[in-house]
Amino acid sequence: MPPAQHYKTVTECNLHGLRTGEPHRIRACGVKSAHQPSFRQGSDISTRTADDLPFDNSFAGLPPAFYTRLMPTPLPAPYFVAASAPAARLVGLDPADLAHEDFVAVFTGNDVPQRAQPLAAVYSGHQFGHWAGQLGDGRAILLGDIAGPDGRMELQLKGAGMTPYSRMGDGRAVLRSSIREFLCSEAMAALGIPTTRALMVTGSNQGVIRETMETAAVVTRMAPSFVRFGSFEHWRYNNKPEELRTLADYVIETFYPALADAPNPYVALLEEVTRRTARMIAHWQAVGFMHGVMNTDNMSILGITLDYGPFGFMEAFDVDHICNHTDQGGRYSYANQVPVGHWNCYALANALLPLIGDQEAAQAALDVYIDAYGEKFDELLHAKLGLKSTQENDRALADDMFKLMQANHVDFTLFFRRLGELEVDVPHAQRDEADAPLRDLFLDRAAFDAWAAQYRDRLRLEGSVDAARRVAMHAVNPKYVLRNYLAQVAIEKAQNGDFDEVRRLLAVLERPFDDQPEHDSYAALPPDWASHLEVSCSS
Ligand code: AMP
Ligand code: MG
Repeated sequence: MPPAQHYKTVTECNLHGLRTGEPHRIRACGVKSAHQPSFRQGSDISTRTADDLPFDNSFAGLPPAFYTRLMPTPLPAPYFVAASAPAARLVGLDPADLAHEDFVAVFTGNDVPQRAQPLAAVYSGHQFGHWAGQLGDGRAILLGDIAGPDGRMELQLKGAGMTPYSRMGDGRAVLRSSIREFLCSEAMAALGIPTTRALMVTGSNQGVIRETMETAAVVTRMAPSFVRFGSFEHWRYNNKPEELRTLADYVIETFYPALADAPNPYVALLEEVTRRTARMIAHWQAVGFMHGVMNTDNMSILGITLDYGPFGFMEAFDVDHICNHTDQGGRYSYANQVPVGHWNCYALANALLPLIGDQEAAQAALDVYIDAYGEKFDELLHAKLGLKSTQENDRALADDMFKLMQANHVDFTLFFRRLGELEVDVPHAQRDEADAPLRDLFLDRAAFDAWAAQYRDRLRLEGSVDAARRVAMHAVNPKYVLRNYLAQVAIEKAQNGDFDEVRRLLAVLERPFDDQPEHDSYAALPPDWASHLEVSCSS
């Protein structure tokens, strides 16, 4: 991977870095109850119990080599923590039902619905750039899939006990990381970023040992599929071409049916996944999201954000920010997410190469990454800046902005939100006062003034109208993101048995672009104590 110093500014890293970095190469890897809750399917409302959930089992239709059938391991006295109403609707469930004990039992893994066929899937992957061999669902158990108004969703219990793929792990997830995954999945969805979803979190007082003793929890995740880049790498590196083909055919037929008629469906798959991955990462960069562990086993074949662990949202802007305390080399820093996304697509290409059969065609498919990323990021950045047209100097304007944000450690979210409030035509004498909320984010006020003058000129060039621009910018620049300290406050309360804050924070994050004046404090800069927060892979 190219060294971090190639990517010193955001637009350089985002738009040029990949061109100037070391070329990647496709390697010929040659190796190798009584309660009757309502259940809604589409507009059809029927009454069902949790035991009656209408699971199908699309993934379980694959040959047994792809997974191990097993039951989740029950947890003692499970309790309800929180549920997401928008996620519930995606599988036709009434959110009000989810707190009921029979749903809590099912979504902890203590009861298995009749139609579920629980399983843990096998996959492998590259971790921090190194081949890690077999991994697999070490603590996640797939129950099956349910049809909802927008299509089918698989439901997976994360933290539901040991599987044959648990390696050294205990098969459990702790309340802290489950709340983080739950809140972030739903926050990302509300931001319009492709992501897995989270239906609910349950907890138990069973102890789980991490750096300290914590307690167990289960987060129910949902996605059309949890197949990863590493699912393909698994068969490639184990030299199993038949299984590789079976998996690729399953994915194309089920999730990319339009590609089945392409001259070479496998290269079409690679190209489409590469494009979706690039666009997903453009979304991350535009909102300051850092995934933290972009290993190939955490890369979704659907191009959706998968596996929330030590993620973070950028606060004081630093293009080299590393959100994962365990990632000492900064492989997954903010700037590196862009080339790493491409690197991961190369890993997928390596895996698919026996099916594609044509190295040049695979290379061409991978090459779409740069433009797909650049175009998406450009589009998002223009919207963030409230620009409707494209001008030659826009990139320079944005570069100057990011350099200024970097030099002044400006809070990413507050900057873009307040930028939307800027008025173009303020008399010179009143400008400092009018700009104060935004201007005060900068130590170097003179540098800000100079940039703001450029920006105002650019807005005038397209006859930008303040009120309309403000509305448009507020619709793309969130006021609320899941800052680490907000999650931490909610987690600490939950660890003491008070779940109100998790639920309140979820409600705020479900409407990230709305002003919500009663929740202004959730948009505030992190308090001093938060500078000591560290998130790591421990979950
Ligand atoms: P992650 O870094 O969370 O994406 O996990 C990498 C691999 O380790 C996956 O195969 C996980 O299923 C597995 N894993 C992580 N934590 C545990 C755990 N507590 N018990 C069993 N397997 C785990
Ligand atoms: Mg993972």
